[in-house]
Amino acid sequence: MIIVMSNSATREQIDNVEKKLSDLGFRTHPIFGEIKTVIGAIGDKRLLNTHFISTMPGVEAIVPIMKPYKLASRELKQVSSIIDVGGVRIGGSEIAVMAGPCAIENKETFIETAIKVRDAGARILRGGAYKPRTSPYAFQGLEEEGLKIMAEARNVTGMKLVTEVVDTRDVELVASYTDIVQIGARNMQNFRLLKEVGMSKKPVLLKRGLAATIEEWLMAAEYVMAEGNLNIILCERGIRTYETATRNTIDMSAIPVIKEVSHLPIIVDPSHATGSWKYVNALSKGAVATGADGLLIEVHSDPCTALCDGQQSLRPPKFAQLMQELKPVAEAVGRTLK
Ligand code: PEP
Ligand code: MN
Repeated sequence: MIIVMSNSATREQIDNVEKKLSDLGFRTHPIFGEIKTVIGAIGDKRLLNTHFISTMPGVEAIVPIMKPYKLASRELKQVSSIIDVGGVRIGGSEIAVMAGPCAIENKETFIETAIKVRDAGARILRGGAYKPRTSPYAFQGLEEEGLKIMAEARNVTGMKLVTEVVDTRDVELVASYTDIVQIGARNMQNFRLLKEVGMSKKPVLLKRGLAATIEEWLMAAEYVMAEGNLNIILCERGIRTYETATRNTIDMSAIPVIKEVSHLPIIVDPSHATGSWKYVNALSKGAVATGADGLLIEVHSDPCTALCDGQQSLRPPKFAQLMQELKPVAEAVGRTLK
């Protein structure tokens, strides 16, 4: 439920309401707006006699949140969230582009690719150090050595980093290197992992599960948020359908639906969504035109020799061309691109 405080509520009154709610077993999340403060209260409302709260000084109203996800809902927070990753803002007017290879393979090519995607306009560098592969015999990633290479690439390029964590035991380590922790599609409902990244304060890139509904996806976000980490960026990466022409089917409708029901930013990953570099250009433009806040694009300097996902990776010149072509699309929908 949402406790709406009156315009004139003092900080002390807000604190008192939060204290009362937490004494009653609720988790509270105050949202300080320009005019009003609202307090999201999450817990078993059967335990609450709402009269205790509604009569407290400074309380204007108590409004139930109808959706099963609460902290992620636009009912709780009407203003769209902007996730600030060390000065790179995701969800604001600028389209945030994350790019890089599927996996970190070695230092030289990773840094070389990082410089190229940065020069083309990407602000955030992606790369996998822990790879969740369908086959146990496929390349599994360089693990901590990969994280060290990423950190070096950040020093060289000044970019922010996004990389995936696949195991609760590695959350602290991965969070100590990266700027955004990625939860992959296969782990979208790994609730222990979601809680663990919820306890870290690092922004989380939450990919949509292979066959997850939008509601299940937002419930996964809720797991992270319920632990106190509200810095979530959703990523549509295609879902499994009966169509086999592409690796997955990109769900463009997820963009306006998420914008309607949630305040969280949403980006699109056309690389994993289609599995083919040939479709990445068209779908990137489609995603920006549809209202996505950013893109996650796989780029490899030599896709033919890539250890992972070469077939869906753009070469750096094609990526640079795409960035140029995206500018008028972004402008047409009132956004900007660096
Ligand atoms: C990835 O981004 O490296 C990845 C494995 O993607 P997904 O979890 O969407 O399959
Ligand atoms: Mn990949």
